[in-house]
Amino acid sequence: MSRYWSDVVRQLTPYIPGEQPRLNKLVKLNTNEHPYPPSPLVLDAIASVTGEELRRYPDPESTELRRAFARCKGLQPEQVFLGNGSDEVLAHVFQALLRHEHALLFPDVTYSFYPVWCDLYQVCWRAVPLAPDFRVDPADYRGDNGGIIIPNPNAPTGVLLGLAGVRQILEQNPASVVVIDEAYIDFGGESAVSLIPEFDNLLVVQTMSKSWALAGLRVGVAMGSAELIDGLQRVKNSFNSYPLDVLAQRAAVAALADDDYFRQACQRVVKSRERLTAAMGKLGFEVLPSAANFILARHPGRAARELFAALRARGIIVRYFDRPRIEEYLRITIGTDEQCDELLAALGELLA
Ligand SMILES: *Cc1c(COP(=O)(O)O)cnc(C)c1O
Repeated sequence: MSRYWSDVVRQLTPYIPGEQPRLNKLVKLNTNEHPYPPSPLVLDAIASVTGEELRRYPDPESTELRRAFARCKGLQPEQVFLGNGSDEVLAHVFQALLRHEHALLFPDVTYSFYPVWCDLYQVCWRAVPLAPDFRVDPADYRGDNGGIIIPNPNAPTGVLLGLAGVRQILEQNPASVVVIDEAYIDFGGESAVSLIPEFDNLLVVQTMSKSWALAGLRVGVAMGSAELIDGLQRVKNSFNSYPLDVLAQRAAVAALADDDYFRQACQRVVKSRERLTAAMGKLGFEVLPSAANFILARHPGRAARELFAALRARGIIVRYFDRPRIEEYLRITIGTDEQCDELLAALGELLA
């Protein structure tokens, strides 16, 4: 606490990201990074950037990347908004579109950054309990609200809401902005981007950090009606005119051009997820059905907090959330099959 801080800063409880350890020999399964590097075209694109290009400011509107996303998703460039990671995009969404008289709705178990942005931007909110099996029940999202935000698949559960469920929420809430945070959609879900032409209150947020294996590049995107995108542009242009640097713009365009590589890399992760899920089941874990690049699992006989610490001591880092409803679970990022095998071997020993 400093006497120089503003009242707003005094009240904040910042989000705590997963640890980024310096030791390379650790098996790092804690922040949902992709286990394989991005397309080689990405590195070629970065190497092609000249000193002359770095001397100058980047294109403030990321025109080429916006066009590339629009082409890739069947949208117009006016329906695409870009930011420095989807965390920045989401922060602008909370300020531009979700602060209203009525409470914003989101699930009780969800991305823990949402209440942090609510705090920062003074958005009132209400948590809607997930069903006992951790599913989002669309029927629970109705009545007066100042907006709705749901990750799909949800984080940190990995549980998917089908497109029919997303549609039901949109139909029940024509007067609210409905944000679907699709950080993990490419690992097995059906994107709500296809509903954008039908619903001008729908905003779909995606990121290149997880499925595109570019967490270090910081590229996030929001897609929706030109009206919603315009609201985001107003905040962005009152905050930072150049959120995406020259390297990020060039590299992201190159990544989008290599769709085959992208699909194959995602498919590999999905296969490893199914393999890990089955093997964890044999060890006695209950694993929630995941459509993401992570699983949420609990062992009926062992406290998650203990397992987390014991794995950490063996150089394997997973994520533990000391929060209601999930304090008995571990969230495990899908690594390479070799990393998953190291995890399974360690768990086997710990449970023996
Ligand atoms: C990882 C994640 C994000 C943020 O990703 P960026 O790296 O900032 O693009 C947003 N929402 C959810 C649900 C996430 O898991």
